[in-house]
Amino acid sequence: MINIAIDGPSGAGKSTVAKAIARKIGFIYVDTGALYRAVGINALRLGYDTSDREKVVSTLDSVKIDLRYINGEQRVLLNGEDVSDAIRLPEASMAASNVSAIPEVRAFLFDLQRQLAAQNNCIMDGRDIGTVVLPNADIKLFLTASPEERAARRHRELIERGTPVDYDVLLEEIKQRDYNDSHRAIAPLKPADDAIIVDTSGNTLQESVDNVLEIIKSKIDIPNV
Ligand code: C5P
Repeated sequence: MINIAIDGPSGAGKSTVAKAIARKIGFIYVDTGALYRAVGINALRLGYDTSDREKVVSTLDSVKIDLRYINGEQRVLLNGEDVSDAIRLPEASMAASNVSAIPEVRAFLFDLQRQLAAQNNCIMDGRDIGTVVLPNADIKLFLTASPEERAARRHRELIERGTPVDYDVLLEEIKQRDYNDSHRAIAPLKPADDAIIVDTSGNTLQESVDNVLEIIKSKIDIPNV
């Protein structure tokens, strides 16, 4: 199987770029952030503080997360319920960031991610895919952009979804999540030594997609692309 790892901070364009390229080259797209979000909202729904390690760990025995692909779109099932929309709500972002710092949560989701990669040609995006989950990925990319640009993108996205959130709040949240993600003791956000770093600041999404696709094509042979 061919595995492409895309890591980087939130809002760098990973998911849009990965999704568009996966469709173009016929790979599945695995959004690993969705898995952490599902664990996060499950704990929130139980009324737990998502940074309380003991409480969150106690939820893992009774949580089942599955990914389904419907018309090429990833759907996330939490104990059989499709939570693909619920995990996009702003409170799910911080919950995901909190639970992702808990080693037992990372271990719990590790096998699921490895299995998907072993069984499918895939583009997997996350924070530690090139460094921890798929250290032998065929290509590793690290997408990044300035915090201001990432906040502006998220701002536009939420307005389009009809759930606007103040730009300054988003910027603050992005900076906080960057800090959490890159300073945690386990699997911190950082490029793998052999990752190709792509700064998407100032690029349109289409430019980022084209740029990343060119890099992929220069590294591996993909039939009919
Ligand atoms: O990518 P997304 O913003 O949906 O991820 C939500 C949170 O999940 C991130 O802030 C990060 O803390 C965590 N995450 C992670 N490792 C991954 C993917 C996401 O720690 N592979």
